[in-house]
Amino acid sequence: MSHPAIMPDLIELTKALIDAESVTPARGAVFDVMEAALVAQGFEVDRFMAGEAPDGPVENLLAARGSGGTHFAFAGHLDVVPPGSGWESDPFAAEVRGDLLYGRGAVDMKGAIAAFTHAAARHRDHPGTLSLIITGDEEGPAIYGTRALIDRMVARGLAPDLCLVGEPTSANRLGDTLKIGRRGSVNIWITVEGRQGHVAYPHLANNPIPRLVAALSEIEAIKLDEGTDWFQPSNIEVTDLNVGNPATNVIPARAAARLSIRFNDLHRGDELGARITDIVQRHAPGAIVDVRVSGEAFLTEPGALSSLVSDAVEARTGIRPELSTSGGTSDARFLSRLCPVVEFGLLNATMHKLDEAVSVTDLQTLSEIYGDILARVFTP
Ligand SMILES: [Zn+2]
Repeated sequence: MSHPAIMPDLIELTKALIDAESVTPARGAVFDVMEAALVAQGFEVDRFMAGEAPDGPVENLLAARGSGGTHFAFAGHLDVVPPGSGWESDPFAAEVRGDLLYGRGAVDMKGAIAAFTHAAARHRDHPGTLSLIITGDEEGPAIYGTRALIDRMVARGLAPDLCLVGEPTSANRLGDTLKIGRRGSVNIWITVEGRQGHVAYPHLANNPIPRLVAALSEIEAIKLDEGTDWFQPSNIEVTDLNVGNPATNVIPARAAARLSIRFNDLHRGDELGARITDIVQRHAPGAIVDVRVSGEAFLTEPGALSSLVSDAVEARTGIRPELSTSGGTSDARFLSRLCPVVEFGLLNATMHKLDEAVSVTDLQTLSEIYGDILARVFTP
C-alpha cells in the first residue's frame, strides 16, 4: 500500500510472462520480464546459466529481498511444455475472454509466479528474507534447473527456512488441495540376452524369454508396502515387454522389459533398483539392468508450515485444503532437502492441454492467499 506507483498489474504481468514464449528449457526474454518486475520491487536478482548440451544450458533466477531473520522462499518455473496445435488463440499471445485468461503457462505456472510477485509487491516492508527460486527447466530433464539453484543458494549462504512451490495443485476449486509430499519415481530397463536359433534345434540356442518371464513374475508378486498415513501403497508396474520376433520358427536372441515404480517415503529409488537387479540376476545371470531414479519421495510432515498455508487458504477461500501427496514428481523433491516445503497453486484442470486457461478471479484470489501467507510468515 505504500508503493502504489510501482505495483505491477497482476493480469498484465501474467500476460507479459505468457507472451515471452518459453518452451522448455526457457532462456532470455521471459527472464527479462521477470527480472524487471522483481527489481522494481526491491529484489536483488541473480541470473545465471547452468549446464551444457544436451540437457542444458538452462537459465535460472534467484531473487532475494531483505536479509537475516526468517527466510521464506517461493519456487517455480518459467518454462512451459510445447503448445501442440489446435488452439483457439495464439498460445504465446495471452488473451482474456470472459473470466478466463488463455495462454501456455497460464496455470503451469506463470500465473502463480505473477500472483506471488504481486503479493511480494504488496508486502514490501517485511522483516527477514524473502526469495524467489525460479528455474527455466522443470518440464524438461530438470538436471540443471532447481538443483543448480539449490547449489547456488547454499554457496551464497541463502538457504531458506520455509518454501512454497506454486505448482497448480487445486483439483476442483481453488484452495481444495495442498501438497505436502510427492511419491518418488524410478524407471528400470531390463534386457536379457540369449542365443538365436532354430525352434527345431533348441539345444543349439538359448531362449531369453523364459528367464525374463520368471524374473517379471517374481517382481510382479512383490508387495512393497501397505501405504502410510500420507501415502498410498508403492507400486511396481511393467510398462513394456518386447521381443520383436516376427518368425514362428526362430528362438529370439533378446528379450526386454521396462518397469516404472512409484514409491512412497518408505523407500529409496536406488534401493528399489538394487532389489530388482538382484531378482533379475538370479533368474537371468548377466542380464543388463538399467536403473534411472527420476526423483525420491518426500514428505513434509503436517506441522507449522502446512497449518500456516492452510489457514491462509481458508481465510481467503472459506475452504480448508486437503493435505495430499498425489500426482507426479515436482521440483519440491529437490527443495525438500533444504527445508520444509509445500505446494499450493491454481486449478490444474487445463495444465499441459490445448487452450490452457486461468480464471482471472482465481488469479486474484491466489495472489491474496500468497500475500496472506507472507503476512503470517513475517508476523513476529
Ligand atoms: Zn509446473
